[in-house]
Amino acid sequence: MNSSNRTALIIGGGIIGCSIAFELLRAGIKCTLIDKGALNKEASTAAAGMLGAQVEIHHPGAFYDLCKWSQQLYRNWTEDLLETGGISPQYIDKGILRAALTEEDELELLSRLPWIHNAEWLTAKEMRAIEPCLSHEIRGGLSFQQDHQVHPVHLALALQASIHKLGCDIREWTPAFGLIERNGRIQGVRTAEGELLADQVIIASGAWSSALTEPFGLKLSLFPVKGQCISLRTAAPVISSTVFTKGCYIVPKQDGSMIIGATQEECGYDKRCQASVIGTLHTAATKLLPELEQAEFVSTWAGLRPGTPDDLPYIGRFETIPGLIMAAGHYRNGILLAPATGLLIKQLVMEEPTGINLTPFTPDRVLTPLQQ
Ligand code: FAD
Repeated sequence: MNSSNRTALIIGGGIIGCSIAFELLRAGIKCTLIDKGALNKEASTAAAGMLGAQVEIHHPGAFYDLCKWSQQLYRNWTEDLLETGGISPQYIDKGILRAALTEEDELELLSRLPWIHNAEWLTAKEMRAIEPCLSHEIRGGLSFQQDHQVHPVHLALALQASIHKLGCDIREWTPAFGLIERNGRIQGVRTAEGELLADQVIIASGAWSSALTEPFGLKLSLFPVKGQCISLRTAAPVISSTVFTKGCYIVPKQDGSMIIGATQEECGYDKRCQASVIGTLHTAATKLLPELEQAEFVSTWAGLRPGTPDDLPYIGRFETIPGLIMAAGHYRNGILLAPATGLLIKQLVMEEPTGINLTPFTPDRVLTPLQQ
């Protein structure tokens, strides 16, 4: 079958589902993308947009390699999105300063130096020479100059415009109620509008992804991890790099606002923001950047990261469920991992060699039979 005759159905229109659609459409595969609500209204637009392959990962291994690879793809990918859909994801190529406020944190950061790439240890004085408003309490830290950022809301708009332009059949407010299995293979989904069939079905439903595999006797370990954020603004810019310390980051955006995040709470699908938690986040941010004490409050929100027990995403085919591909569980790094995930799923669908070894990310690794 040549690619122009192939069809794919993607369940979930967050950044991951949209990135997969973008790559499949570019490869000539006809795509239908469904979402239970409007596109990109869940975790993807709650994110801060850091492309933190270095700041986020605390030990070497397959996940660090995946993150680095996606980071390398990013700039060209955003240029492709701008060219295709006419909207810029607001890629900013300023790095991240990861400051230590305690001795324990300083030692943890120093322990990364033997294996981490393109990182430099800076004294407190050197850090303040780059970002003069940083607190006098900082003890020094790491400079990650390749950890750039995008604006998740603009990235979402750029992806949506691009897949629309490439002819994606986008169906919002269309929840998938269940997978359709015929002749031992997944062939589509049931929706309120009826059956939607395709050669390849891809689950990219974020923190909700396990509901669709459970009727097949397989419980995918995947759970929501709530993150609350605030956005603030100062009269004049106080930082140009992202600044980060243990438990808190501050990401300056092109419109002059700063995103401050984020909590990590396992409390089900509750997305409410709590005043006390937002207050604690603000206090942590002012410890790093005292100028934020008097900043203007802009907004607050929460999103549900798709968490997994080993913090690795599920990217790959199921051994036991032919016709089904999984792309979920990107936890804290789904914005960073979007270009790599889109490309990997395109390679799987086209039966091409994959850009990296997918064994560590197989969805079969922590499946628990429901019958047990
Ligand atoms: P989602 O965006 O949640 O999308 C899943 C979609 O599936 C939703 O639109 C949902 O409606 C749909 N869906 C679910 N069930 C069904 C169904 N049955 N039928 C149809 N549709 C369905 N990552 C980074 O890389 N950098 C960051 O700086 C960063 N900061 C973050 C800060 C916060 C506060 C949070 C919450 C997350 C952050 N992340 C960050 C993580 C990142 O946002 C996620 O990993 C990523 O958005 C996951 O994308 P997704 O498309 O898998 O999930």
